[in-house]
Amino acid sequence: MILLMGIAGSGKGTQGKMLADARGYHLISMGDVLRMYVTGAQREQMLSGGLLNDQEIIGIVDKVLASLPENEEVVLDGFPRTAPQAEWLIEQVKTGRFKLSAAFRLVASRDAVKQRLLNRGRIDDVEAAIEERFNEYERSTAPLIKLLKDHGVDVVDINAERPVGVVNQDFVNYLDKQNNTKE
Ligand code: AMP
Repeated sequence: MILLMGIAGSGKGTQGKMLADARGYHLISMGDVLRMYVTGAQREQMLSGGLLNDQEIIGIVDKVLASLPENEEVVLDGFPRTAPQAEWLIEQVKTGRFKLSAAFRLVASRDAVKQRLLNRGRIDDVEAAIEERFNEYERSTAPLIKLLKDHGVDVVDINAERPVGVVNQDFVNYLDKQNNTKE
């Protein structure tokens, strides 16, 4: 399992897709899954840039992961985003359900990615919701890096302010190196 972390607009979705396409990995984009499922108050919460309830998110991700064939690599874009989510995942790893190959942190400043989001123009890509997502990342998600490292997960920083292809090459190089070390 490969985790993709980083602020909104840092390219998790794009890089996740490129990686999954090139290597035949399963790709779970938490945001896409949620956009498919949620309505009403939860949808409003998403549109405002806030996070959804941990227990519900964990319930959904648990089901999606259970539906995949075993022992195949999965790229997880946008999960975990909070401490309870990360703790759940670490617990699953401890019980042997999954193996965590790496967590990639796409590093980019707010200023560098804000225009990307405004250009993308998704329904939640409006000024206020973008700010809220940035703040939520700092508040809830950024601290998980330490938690993951403390549990022995390889956290790999990638400069995400560069062009898509260059960023992708960093992923490829890292994973190739990791595979070669294993062999
Ligand atoms: P994304 O497509 O990754 O930008 O996610 C869009 C929105 O989905 C976020 O702003 C949150 O409202 C919600 N969301 C996605 N992943 C999670 C998660 N792991 N926990 C809680 N909310 C999430």
